[in-house]
Amino acid sequence: MDSVLLMDCGSGTLQRMARSGVVPVDLAGIFISHAHLDHIGDLTAILFMLHLPEQERADDLLIHAGPGMGKILEGLQGVFGEWLTPSGCALHALEHQEGRFEVGELLCEVRPVQHHSSSIGIRVRGADGCTVAYLGDTDLCDEAVELCRGVDLAIMECSLTDDDDRPGHLNPKRIAELARRAKPEGLLISHLYPETAELDIPALLESHGCRIPAAVAFDGMGIAIDPPAH
Ligand SMILES: [Zn+2]
Ligand SMILES: [Zn+2]
Repeated sequence: MDSVLLMDCGSGTLQRMARSGVVPVDLAGIFISHAHLDHIGDLTAILFMLHLPEQERADDLLIHAGPGMGKILEGLQGVFGEWLTPSGCALHALEHQEGRFEVGELLCEVRPVQHHSSSIGIRVRGADGCTVAYLGDTDLCDEAVELCRGVDLAIMECSLTDDDDRPGHLNPKRIAELARRAKPEGLLISHLYPETAELDIPALLESHGCRIPAAVAFDGMGIAIDPPAH
């Protein structure tokens, strides 16, 4: 199996992983975009499963996240003790604000994005040259544009409707502007709330002048990306 990087783990992630044939022991690493519960709710369930002797890992498990992750992990382990310690390996939280690191053969770059003090977005390049950006939650900002610049697939949230301009999240108008500046090859829209889930987001993006192919994510969705020709 190629290196599997789990990007965020809100409630229900462990179950969705199992349905997709991925168990926690398969993970090369975990990336956490920020410390809101809808992005880390299943972290304890994943670590609890990794404590089982039959889930023993050979490699240490690294959680790549923004500032504050070490304290959260310490707090959880303070409450749950050894039950959150993976079997056979060490667990480390690596806090980043900006920088590059490797997860297996994946080259990762992170930058801070505008949402929460712990928020970072990620850009990943696979061994075949394919690039994917994942922003977690964010407002439209220069760092988000840089992470998405020219990638094969940019995964973005759409929490707000166009007439809701609260800061710290994206709406179709902001996504279209972000895409206009970053020019990714494709857009995958995720993190919908009831107000945005009923919208035809690809049509709205088009109405805002966005010509980049866009799809709305659903549970269990798989996307294969052709390696770039150059
Ligand atoms: Zn959030
Ligand atoms: Zn969120």
